[in-house]
Amino acid sequence: MKHTFKKSLTYMLSTALVIGSLSVPTVTAEAAPVQHVLTDTQAVVIDGCGNGCQGHVITGSTWGSLENAITVSGTHDITLDNVDVGNVTACAFKIADNNPGDVTITLVGTNTLLSSGHHAGIEKIGVGDVGTLEINGTGSLQVSGGYYQANTASDFHFGGAGIGGTWEAFEGTSNIVINGGTIVATGGAGAAGIGGGDANTASNIVINGGSVTAIGGKDGQNLRIGAAGIGGGKAGSTSNIVINGGSVYVESEGSDNEADLFGYAED
Ligand SMILES: [Zn+2]
Repeated sequence: MKHTFKKSLTYMLSTALVIGSLSVPTVTAEAAPVQHVLTDTQAVVIDGCGNGCQGHVITGSTWGSLENAITVSGTHDITLDNVDVGNVTACAFKIADNNPGDVTITLVGTNTLLSSGHHAGIEKIGVGDVGTLEINGTGSLQVSGGYYQANTASDFHFGGAGIGGTWEAFEGTSNIVINGGTIVATGGAGAAGIGGGDANTASNIVINGGSVTAIGGKDGQNLRIGAAGIGGGKAGSTSNIVINGGSVYVESEGSDNEADLFGYAED
């Protein structure tokens, strides 16, 4: 009888296991994010990821005169973990023009993204059917577009936004959402802190949280000061800026005009 009991218990257990395996959804181990390390000679390029992005973590520092330090194309979740980028010849963080995918940045630790020339710190060009840039996290981000640093007017060129567009494409920027982080975004000559490059539009900028400081039109030579803190570049129009939460401070270099702070600076 004891033997029979054991057998039936085994049968019951195996039946339970079968039922269990049928009723519980299959759990697969979560894929580890891809690690990327910036160095003075090594840029980071993120594209592909097939049917689903398993996440990316970028660490490291580059001040070695790369062209674009970080280039992103497609839909990706990207963690910036104490990233320090400067001295690039173009973009610190470049999202492909008219990228249809959504790019999510999560801030960890202290991050710096400094672009040069007319490029935006985090460059996002395109309006209409383009993806959304979302910024989350509890870390900090200092991000600046390039700005005029030459000594004569003939050397003048327009700067890029802290986060957003450049003057070059004349296409504007759109779909930027900030949910968290301590962010200081500075636009160069004629460019918004968050929004358009010089003479370029900005639309659909939403701030839901975080501490955001946006300074537009930082022009060391005072040749083309002004541009929205959040909005269009100098003489570039603005539509649909929404502040739902967080702490937001805006400044338009050389102007106290409300329209210049959230909106655009007159040419
Ligand atoms: Zn990815």
